[in-house]
Amino acid sequence: MERVEQTPEVVNYVDRVYQTVKERNPNELEFHQAVKEVFDSLVPVLVKNPTYMKQAILERIVEPERTISFRVPWVDDQGNVKVNRGFRVQFNSAIGPYKGGLRFHPSVNASIIKFLGFEQIFKNSLTGQPIGGGKGGADFDPKGKSDLEIMRFTQSFMSELSKYIDADVDVPAGDIGVGAREIGYMFGQYKKMRGGFQAGVLTGKSIDSGGSLARKEATGYGTVYFVEEMLKDKGMSFNGSTVTVSGSGNVSIYAMEKAIEFGAKVVACSDSGGYIYDETGIDLSTVKRLKEVENKRISEYVMEHPNAHYFEDCSGIWSVPCDVALPCATQNELDETAAKILVANGVFAVGEGANMPSTHGAVEIFLNSNVLFAPGKAANAGGVSVSALEMAQNSARIAWTFAEVDVKLQEIMKNIYRNSMKAAEDYDAPGNLVVGANIAGFIKVADTMIMQGVI
Ligand code: NDP
Repeated sequence: MERVEQTPEVVNYVDRVYQTVKERNPNELEFHQAVKEVFDSLVPVLVKNPTYMKQAILERIVEPERTISFRVPWVDDQGNVKVNRGFRVQFNSAIGPYKGGLRFHPSVNASIIKFLGFEQIFKNSLTGQPIGGGKGGADFDPKGKSDLEIMRFTQSFMSELSKYIDADVDVPAGDIGVGAREIGYMFGQYKKMRGGFQAGVLTGKSIDSGGSLARKEATGYGTVYFVEEMLKDKGMSFNGSTVTVSGSGNVSIYAMEKAIEFGAKVVACSDSGGYIYDETGIDLSTVKRLKEVENKRISEYVMEHPNAHYFEDCSGIWSVPCDVALPCATQNELDETAAKILVANGVFAVGEGANMPSTHGAVEIFLNSNVLFAPGKAANAGGVSVSALEMAQNSARIAWTFAEVDVKLQEIMKNIYRNSMKAAEDYDAPGNLVVGANIAGFIKVADTMIMQGVI
């Protein structure tokens, strides 16, 4: 390991670019937060490679290649015309077609989509797959909508989006509020609009439409594979540990499933209404039925498991004593106060299944308290990795078995862990996976941008 001095010239340069990002994108707080988190890691990289400054890589990488914002009109079941706002941010295509999910949630705005798209550039680079960074969505709330309303909305959304995506250009997938049903309707509408069966234009499809086995499980499983690797390095394991997992959606359910398979006891999970605590270990089959089949609230769990407890206020989940905490719900769900409680209760590892679930202050607390910390950019990259494997299967017109995909996923997660650890070591921050993931993800994209010229 070589000591890299943080020269004032580089520190001032990075700060100047960051201030410009804030001025040019006012009120986009989540986007500022995501940029700052990456920039904080990059000073030693720029000291060692001043070419990145000469080539204005930071200035270029924070500016999306293209931002699309569009009207999504639709008709509800009562015949009322509704209008939502749709987005697609095509952030960076240096190493492959734009790739990133679509989020349907009332909180969606330009800042949320840009923070997610920016993170996606580095995450996708870390996977080792040929995919660039993008993200999209709409401020549409799927909660309480009928199946027909969901179909009408997604069809209207895709009627416009279809003009900008293609298997070699931009390949969206799911995210919060967008699961197999929504992807199915969007794929159908794309097919109709473009007049051809282009399987590789969306990922997360049903198996019969060209989807990949293990895609549904990939993000949650991948997070647990990554954390297990991190634990193994310290002679520990999920086996015998107590785990809390926030959320009870796609990422959360499959993180719980794999953690339980690895011998952990998962004692708490949540939704946006509150959290459940089951001292004997959560019965995942009940959670799956409530959430995946019946579309119910997590509070209903205690009706079937009277020894379990339900608490309103989802953020209270972090007061449950645990060895490993896996935030798998949403951005900024784990703040400094929650981090202090987790540390006081003896947590020894935190793995982010969600995107940016821990605030900047919370991350600092974990790192300063020697808690093993796996940032989302690296730990939740399993989903997009298997999406890239889905694209590969679509191109080759083949279908791998569940086991074949799962083995590839495990290998990818191990590589991301090793590469992030190595980058942290190379840049004088041994063991710091936040720094390591940012640097490993950045260098490949930056070098490719330079090779492709100023475009
Ligand atoms: P889902 O919509 O399937 O699930 C989200 C879950 O989080 C729901 O249970 C939701 O509850 C809950 N939730 C929302 N806000 C809160 C909150 N403040 N506190 C507690 N629970 C909350 O989404 P995903 O599982 O797909 O995504 C979860 C996270 O993982 C997001 O950050 C996403 O960007 C990230 N991610 C997802 C990937 C994927 O493949 N799906 C890939 C990589 C990252 P409710 O139902 O009440 O809203």
